[in-house]
Amino acid sequence: MSNLADNTKTQQPAYNYCALPLAAYACRPDQSLGRVHEEPESENRTPFQRDRDRIIHSSAFRRLKYKTQVFVYHEGDHYRTRLTHTLEVAQITRSIARALMVNEDLAEGIALAHDLGHTPFAHIGEEYLKKCMEPYGGFEHNDQSLRVLTTLERKYPEWNGLNLTWETLEGVVKHNGPMSEKPHIAVRELQEQTDLRLDTYASVEAQVAALSDDIAYNNHDVEDGLRAGLFTLADLEQLDLLKDALATSRARYGDLRPRYLVQEMIREMIGMMVQDVLATSRKNLSDLNPQSAEDIRTAGKAMVAFSDDMRKKVDDLREFLFARMYRHYTIIRIYGKVDKIITDLFTAFMKSYETLPDNWQRRVREAGAEGDEALRARIVADYIAGMTDRYAIREHERLFDLYWDLR
Ligand code: MG
Repeated sequence: MSNLADNTKTQQPAYNYCALPLAAYACRPDQSLGRVHEEPESENRTPFQRDRDRIIHSSAFRRLKYKTQVFVYHEGDHYRTRLTHTLEVAQITRSIARALMVNEDLAEGIALAHDLGHTPFAHIGEEYLKKCMEPYGGFEHNDQSLRVLTTLERKYPEWNGLNLTWETLEGVVKHNGPMSEKPHIAVRELQEQTDLRLDTYASVEAQVAALSDDIAYNNHDVEDGLRAGLFTLADLEQLDLLKDALATSRARYGDLRPRYLVQEMIREMIGMMVQDVLATSRKNLSDLNPQSAEDIRTAGKAMVAFSDDMRKKVDDLREFLFARMYRHYTIIRIYGKVDKIITDLFTAFMKSYETLPDNWQRRVREAGAEGDEALRARIVADYIAGMTDRYAIREHERLFDLYWDLR
């Protein structure tokens, strides 16, 4: 992985610039630890810009469009999907990264990649795929995001995956901070090629992307939940955070029509959270006074964080959303259907891998997995995890509906 660093000694990189002056603790493109497979650098983009562009052009990224965030895609065109969620995370990430004077391109790439490994049907889909994969080494969506980037995308004749820089991969792997539990398959395989230093913290850029994920989904879930009628503004007023945001909105505009009030409240909440993260992170950074990205990795705690007060308010909101939204009966009702779709597909493909599409059968043969159940299960899980909601439904119909063709 030190290829790029070595390159910089012999050839002057033409990409040695960023959009803004960077803080001392930011990740600099000319100090990247490079890629697993050596490549000539671009003349006009930094390695982190290229990573971001590769992620946007990946097939897994396009499929986020038809993957559920909370509501299944056909429930309404106004709700978030994994794709629009990801774009909101990237937007918040860029704002915070720029304000902290760290590398916006790197942070954006990590944000755009963070959910690539999600199964169809959101966390419900993951629960059932996890169950299917229990005897075969498990399934975990963060690890699967890495697997998409390092193995599953097939776009380059010389290697599998997108051959991203160490820093982008690190950011995806450490989405929840240093890795304390036993690494899953994608991390283990990457560890054989480069040391991700799993016990250290990730860059500020990665920390920004992770917290922006929290800011995005907590806010858009409130909006989507209200739209779906799962709770009301009066319910939300029991929460400190929402009460504050509503009070500010009402003080500014008086009696607003609910649709404007909701928008105003969400804007206010995102603003409050971003302000809080910036103030807290700046304080953390000024206390630590880091002189390099390395100082961030070994700081022993995350630099990018909510204040204790905001953390408590966000946790209360999460608890509310969990009870009132993710466990709402209209959502619970689809659990059984999702269980059937995922488990039926998994069982059918495991029973006969010849029911897989040609390119996936090829993957089974190339891996020598015909006679190896665990290897085959991993490939089947890769195929299912990569499906969009609607593709999974169609695939289930094709395999199990006797009269599909005659309808
Ligand atoms: Mg997310």
